[in-house]
Amino acid sequence: MSDTWVIRDKVFTKYLTADDIQSAIRTIASKINQELDGQVPVFIVVLNGAFIFASDLIKKVKIDCEIAFVKLSSYSGMESTGTIKEVIGLDISLKGRTVVVIEDIVDTGLTLHGFLKQINDMEPAAVKVAACLLKPDAFRMKFPIDYLCFSIPNEFVVGYGLDYDGLGRNSSDIYKILNG
Ligand code: 5GP
Repeated sequence: MSDTWVIRDKVFTKYLTADDIQSAIRTIASKINQELDGQVPVFIVVLNGAFIFASDLIKKVKIDCEIAFVKLSSYSGMESTGTIKEVIGLDISLKGRTVVVIEDIVDTGLTLHGFLKQINDMEPAAVKVAACLLKPDAFRMKFPIDYLCFSIPNEFVVGYGLDYDGLGRNSSDIYKILNG
């Protein structure tokens, strides 16, 4: 794929290459391997966007671990707040476990904030967050992002699992918008 990518009515330009991404993932995977050794963490992958990042990250995790997948859907009428999300698919006990939530991108942080509250209600021993991207200028929450690949400007990005209007997930590189 070239350095620009047209998706529907928008033009995107290549921003983070597959090599950049894989190298950042290697760094956080080795941190996870060191810090969580002996804890048998449960990775919780937030679908849809995190599926590619989670796959690459978890393949580089060499300690014993379990993997679960959730989808967060807004309750109808509450979408504008972004704070209340229904969790679909979380059918394992997290009591006493070390949990690592894997998210594609943290923007305001509202989505993850709501989800982390629900995870904490399940009495885990520890909760960590792994994210591929963070937009610090948009982030409104206080929770730590323990394993982060990149901080990026407050601009819309696609690729590597992230979509624009359903398209664009199937790229190994990350693109950012040119004509906002
Ligand atoms: P937050 O609740 O942190 O504001 O938003 C998180 C969710 O918004 C992400 O999981 C993702 O689905 C979506 N999102 C935020 N910024 C972007 C972006 O730049 N590109 C894409 N494709 N999705 C984004």
